[in-house]
Amino acid sequence: MSEQMPEQGTNAAPDKLRVVTIDGPSGVGKSTVSRRVAAELGFTYLDTGAMYRAVGYACAQAGIEVDDPAHQEALNKLLAELDLRLLPPEKEGDEVRVFLGDEEVSAAIRMPEMSMAASQVSAVPTVRARLTVMQQEMGKAGGLVADGRDTGTVVFPQAAWKFYLDASPEERCRRRVAQLRERGQEVDEQETLAQIIERDRNDQERTIAPLVMAADALHIDSSHINADEVVARMLEVVSSG
Ligand code: C5P
Repeated sequence: MSEQMPEQGTNAAPDKLRVVTIDGPSGVGKSTVSRRVAAELGFTYLDTGAMYRAVGYACAQAGIEVDDPAHQEALNKLLAELDLRLLPPEKEGDEVRVFLGDEEVSAAIRMPEMSMAASQVSAVPTVRARLTVMQQEMGKAGGLVADGRDTGTVVFPQAAWKFYLDASPEERCRRRVAQLRERGQEVDEQETLAQIIERDRNDQERTIAPLVMAADALHIDSSHINADEVVARMLEVVSSG
């Protein structure tokens, strides 16, 4: 099977899928690092967080409150009809483009309020089931770098290379504030830190697919090393088999 054939520089064991998973908490730099690792390897980058954000956005637009039992039918219909597409960025280094039907929602889903909306929908089993299947479909041919919370544990347990990227909440807050300001968004540091801590708790404490390090993942703490060093470390691991 071609997806399991070792290729030069990325020797995966024959029973493994040629997929790199990069999980970890919010704001740890997963997307920057994942994009760069994917570009270096010639792999496709899969931003699973963007998918949860898109569902959070779609629910907000439709007035669906996922915790409300009266809204379950509407949620199921939304999931059944979900037309979610991810396209490569227009220019290198940009984020993945996200479409719901014909509507481009790339910027809207990355507004700060969509982080919590994504976190809320991500605790709903039907949402996870739907997105997990889509993600597995995208990865079945291999050649993928997936970033998220459960990509190494639930989505691609057979991935050949798994990383868990971590950093302190304070350092993640500092980076997030800088990133949002660079985009011209106004941001309050204390509020951002509180949101990061709350999102960590939501992601770690949910019963389904919680944020947890896969037993066979390599833990990398990026609090005191920069993205270049993280990328280099990951590429070294991937190229060594
Ligand atoms: O990675 P990002 O911050 O864009 O993800 C938004 C939210 O989507 C996360 O806080 C998390 O709740 C959820 N998520 C998830 N599983 C993934 C990716 C994201 O639950 N694989």
